[in-house]
Amino acid sequence: MGEDLEAVRTRWDGFLARIRERVEEILGEAGPGCMTVFEQGGFDPFTMGNVFPAIRTRLLDLSAKAEDAWFQQVAPAFERTEAYNRQVLDTEHAKLERLREWITYAFDDFEIRTKADASRILWARLSPKLPKDLRCTQCGSPVEIPLTFTAQNMRCRSCKSVNTFEPGEARILDSFAIRCLAHEEAWERRHGLPALPRPAPLCATETYAAELQLWERRYSQR
Ligand SMILES: [Zn+2]
Repeated sequence: MGEDLEAVRTRWDGFLARIRERVEEILGEAGPGCMTVFEQGGFDPFTMGNVFPAIRTRLLDLSAKAEDAWFQQVAPAFERTEAYNRQVLDTEHAKLERLREWITYAFDDFEIRTKADASRILWARLSPKLPKDLRCTQCGSPVEIPLTFTAQNMRCRSCKSVNTFEPGEARILDSFAIRCLAHEEAWERRHGLPALPRPAPLCATETYAAELQLWERRYSQR
């Protein structure tokens, strides 16, 4: 006499729900943890970036644990039920696949949102320090401030001499923040998620437009 199908299914659903809760718990704790590393590392996003692989490994372990449980215990338990048929097994296995896909999604979402949040903090810290006024080193005329956070040569309109715009520590806005925010926008569009606010001067850069296009292309190829 085999076990009741409903009982096996209830146990399996409960197991999957617990894995999902565990993932949410890990990510819930990792968020503030990442921000602490970011702040204590002197607002260095690359120090914070070192934390992500460890979080990812913990989630992949849970994903592997669910798969092991399926093959070692759950599938055999379904096979022992009286009402067993191939379709039951396919339906139940699809739940495992959905969970595993969701874990991948949840980690990506976490990493993208966390890096974008760090980018918003960088902007809040660095934007007040940006040069508001650039003067020609030769003639003192005002030189246009470029819409970029990389070093740029700007020609003075009056005397035609070349002045170098140096973003200083705001370089990180180009090398990190703009890229992460563009990635976040592509991610939101891809999954129909609500848009979080992004600083307009960063979104207006060429780097932003190029990164957004790059991510949209990557996502459309998947
Ligand atoms: Zn000049």
